[in-house]
Amino acid sequence: MSGRHSKHDLERTPDDDILRDLEKRWDDAPSRVLRWRKDQDVHDLDCDGTPGWDGDRDDGERLVAARAAELSELQERLFADGRTGGNRSVLLVLQGLDTSGKGGIVRHVVGLVDPQGVAHRAFGVPTPEEAAHGYLWRIRNALPQPGYLGVFDRSHYEQVLVVRVDGLEPEETWRAHYDEINAFEAEIAAAGTAIVKVALMVSRDEQKARLRERLERPDKYWKYNPGDLKTRARFGDYLDAYQEAFERTSTDVAPWHVVPADKKWFARLAVTELVLDALRSFDLGWPPAGFDVEEQLRLLDETG
Ligand code: ATP
Repeated sequence: MSGRHSKHDLERTPDDDILRDLEKRWDDAPSRVLRWRKDQDVHDLDCDGTPGWDGDRDDGERLVAARAAELSELQERLFADGRTGGNRSVLLVLQGLDTSGKGGIVRHVVGLVDPQGVAHRAFGVPTPEEAAHGYLWRIRNALPQPGYLGVFDRSHYEQVLVVRVDGLEPEETWRAHYDEINAFEAEIAAAGTAIVKVALMVSRDEQKARLRERLERPDKYWKYNPGDLKTRARFGDYLDAYQEAFERTSTDVAPWHVVPADKKWFARLAVTELVLDALRSFDLGWPPAGFDVEEQLRLLDETG
């Protein structure tokens, strides 16, 4: 695996040997294996697969844990960069059908870094105020400021997913969104945001098992929404909508990553690696002092 820091090497930790051993379980970089390919058909995806990874669940969970130090330090460097005039940020866009595990990604992956530097936003049915504006209005308002790791739980893509499947706009209207979204993402990428788009793909059978669990466990009732069954009934239509979204909006500046999500541990591992790649791509050091260090040390000593 590539991506260690040449210019600003991170401190070695005791976990490093374990980490080097575990990362060999990837037979190719996750950003390559999981990236949407033009010839891919999402209807044929093995949602229970672990493409590129030949370790087991225990290895996967240990690698996520071992990545925490680097993830957290790079996020802190990003935050420091933003505080000192840098323009960079990361935007993790999470899409997926009900029960695909978006919330788990936020808890288990995004939760590895300092919450101070995270800007999380979940997008539900537009409020009357949001609906009074164009669909990108609420998205623009929620974009991460420089220095932040932004996380979108659902996103502007709902405008070509639920809006298409439920017929909430005429076809010519939602079809125009693909180009609009590409232009929008190119604009924010050019302004310094690394966009990591992840679609968590759960199979129909696994979705049923997860919905059943929500109905069988009182501690999960709160996650169950009777409306999820209506969405489930359109499972195939959603796959069609995802397929076309990938075909039309996977671009060089903002490619889609299609992540099999029946194994929650694999999805979490994959997203950890993708976010880490985005942070590494900035190759950030620590910002230099904006003051005279020697002078400040002298003044500090004088304070007694
Ligand atoms: P989740 O299933 O993501 O955990 P939830 O079930 O708690 O969320 P909410 O967060 O209230 O529900 O809203 C999610 C719902 O909002 C989804 O059904 C989604 O399709 C819908 N939604 C999101 N964006 C739009 C949009 N632009 N137009 C219509 N519906 C939308």
